[in-house]
Amino acid sequence: MSKIEMKTPIVEMDGDEMTRIIWRYIKDELINPYIELKSVYFDLGLKHRDETNDQVTIDSANAALEYGVAVKCATITPNDARVKEYGLKEMYKSPNGTIRGIMDGTIFRAPILIKGVKPHVWNWEKPITIARHGYGDVYKNTEIKVKGAGKAELVFTSEDGKEERKLIHEFKGPGVIQGMHNVDSSIESFARSCMNYACDMKQDLWFASKDTISKTYDGDFRDIFMSVYENEFKTRFEEAGIEYFYTLIDDAVARVIRSKGGFIWACKNYDGDVMSDMMAAACGSLAMMTSVLVSPDGKYEFEAAHGTVQRHYYKHLDGQETSTNSVATIFAWSGALRKRGEIDNIPALMEFSDRLEKATLETIESGEMTGDLALISSLPGVKKLNTLDFVKAVRSRLG
Ligand code: NAP
Ligand code: MG
Repeated sequence: MSKIEMKTPIVEMDGDEMTRIIWRYIKDELINPYIELKSVYFDLGLKHRDETNDQVTIDSANAALEYGVAVKCATITPNDARVKEYGLKEMYKSPNGTIRGIMDGTIFRAPILIKGVKPHVWNWEKPITIARHGYGDVYKNTEIKVKGAGKAELVFTSEDGKEERKLIHEFKGPGVIQGMHNVDSSIESFARSCMNYACDMKQDLWFASKDTISKTYDGDFRDIFMSVYENEFKTRFEEAGIEYFYTLIDDAVARVIRSKGGFIWACKNYDGDVMSDMMAAACGSLAMMTSVLVSPDGKYEFEAAHGTVQRHYYKHLDGQETSTNSVATIFAWSGALRKRGEIDNIPALMEFSDRLEKATLETIESGEMTGDLALISSLPGVKKLNTLDFVKAVRSRLG
């Protein structure tokens, strides 16, 4: 069988620990035998990030912008323990944070639904994709613990020295104050990323905030979304037969629970933080969550939502058998290859991505799965496979 040829390379960002092992298995068993892979390779393994003073992370993000499609392995975000473990020159920032900053992107997370692992919300037939705004609000806040009586005011001083003041509260005793902000350019990018992605996926887009209470702050989000929609996307949405829908956040939560799924839910930073964990838990496993970072002008970085699965890696190093779930990483590869195929007009590459995902799901639905799913699957006669054997089982179905 001849291998599928590519035109433009994808950007390949290798990573750390157990997911780095899985990366190799996937390439050896599921990619290289079928595709004449063209990739621009960046080693984001912590050792190499340290050797390059983290320049490799920056270079990889710029390459993602240049080539348009990247696939990323999970990476360690260093803390004190990691600085010691790897003898690092410094405590580098989160690679995902660095890449997101450069690509100015929004992260879309969706669960992979399979037979035998029912979502806790039984009426969800299709995945709900959460799009989380990645800038500002409570994540860039300033707080004061008020120790006693006094006056709190909100003050803005414009460049020409003019002041705008508003009373927050006259404190009679101890309390607490918080100041937060966002910027229109970031909200606009967020809206654009969400709307591009909705057109791409041919799915409705929901957005919600609390603009009845937060008339100015959340009102700004609502108005920016509406103007980006009206000015840039209305026709594309109508052509795709999809809808942009705005509502209050509490109404949205109630509707989401009653829905059949199959739409994109754009969330402000905090809402997205909370709701993406809720969605992962409601659908069974963090190991079954895909993640894609999309820039406002449509550049893509695909990855798994989980981390490097450190605990399994230490077992692996110790010579013990592991049963680590590779599904989200396989879907990161299939997502990237499909997108490359779409952009470069290579139907064979898109078909291969579909086949790879189908083979992966069929393997699980036939009862062969890794330990995390074996624990929660309701299928009869479940067989727990080790990390490599699961990948091989998928390959045997790929043919
Ligand atoms: P983690 O790697 O997501 O793993 C946490 C636990 O979840 C695992 O110990 C395992 O539970 C379970 N799990 C996660 N993925 C699994 C999989 N594919 N198959 C089976 N079980 C899975 O989170 P962590 O241990 O907190 O973080 C480890 C490292 O990952 C950290 O250095 C962190 O900085 C990094 N991280 C990277 C990313 C990223 O690059 N996107 C995201 C998050 C964390 P059991 O042990 O019970 O089996
Ligand atoms: Mg969270």
